[in-house]
Amino acid sequence: MPNCENCGRKWQWKTIVSKTLKLTNKVTCPYCGKPQYIVPKSRVLTGFFSFLPTFIIIMIGMIFDINVWQVLLSAAGLLLVFLAIYPFTMKLTSEDKSQTFI
Ligand SMILES: [Zn+2]
Repeated sequence: MPNCENCGRKWQWKTIVSKTLKLTNKVTCPYCGKPQYIVPKSRVLTGFFSFLPTFIIIMIGMIFDINVWQVLLSAAGLLLVFLAIYPFTMKLTSEDKSQTFI
């Protein structure tokens, strides 16, 4: 779990997830009130986690003869797994470095 770069306190899992769902990487620290930016710990890891669910769903669809609802259900399940793991792959920084990822 990431630590605030300003005050060094560890953020809670739900803080990362709830802020991430707002589709912003700028998050105010709940402890010291300073803005922090969520950055991927590793670009490879983030790419892996965004690619893996899609890959698994396609593989499941190819191997098993399942209908669209089962595929959607699998996708929803994988999304939950992704959300559970995602905060562990993040770190926080006081500077917005997101432009370097474009
Ligand atoms: Zn802080």
